[in-house]
Amino acid sequence: MEKLKRKIAEQGTVLSDEVLKVDSFLNHQIDPELMLAVGEEFATLFREEGVTKIVTIESSGIAPAVMAGLKLGVPVVFARKRQSLTLTENLLTASVYSFTKKTESTIAVSASHLSKDDKVLIIDDFLANGQAAKGLVSIIKQAGAKVCGIGIVIEKSFQTGREELDNLGIRVESLARIASLADGKVTFLQEVGS
Ligand code: 5GP
Repeated sequence: MEKLKRKIAEQGTVLSDEVLKVDSFLNHQIDPELMLAVGEEFATLFREEGVTKIVTIESSGIAPAVMAGLKLGVPVVFARKRQSLTLTENLLTASVYSFTKKTESTIAVSASHLSKDDKVLIIDDFLANGQAAKGLVSIIKQAGAKVCGIGIVIEKSFQTGREELDNLGIRVESLARIASLADGKVTFLQEVGS
């Protein structure tokens, strides 16, 4: 997605060979117009999959997921990272190792928001080693629902996440794929046909 790649090139900050900061439009301040375009792109890519629900993870997955939900006309559920006083019963949970925080945590979704008839599209802001996405896949499977795809805003293709998800046989669509963050610069993957 050219508009997204331009924004990353112009406003992204490379913090290390592995971490990209995009706080001006995705992870802290949010660019609603760009997020709407991201949502439209996901909706176009996954329209034929019969999606009934979108599942993401708080907090940075919520903006792109809501826009995709708007365009596909389906509800959006976000997994909670912290125990909430209002989220008390019948929880589906998974343990996730956070790439940015370097800690293990439990993510949770109330079973009342997922049914075995759901066809779920997972959306997240970044794909690094695939731990967040795999945690969400586990939660959706615990509900007996089907995962019909994973939409990622920014994939770091030099990390293992894409391969991990491919190995699960799940369709993954990433709107920007980064081949390297070496030498303080963002290099996008050269994709066939682009
Ligand atoms: P994974 O679970 O695939 O290892 O990592 C994905 C999660 O870690 C995303 O939900 C995202 O919040 C965070 N993350 C991973 N890499 C980066 C990065 O380079 N920049 C930012 N801002 N977040 C990242």
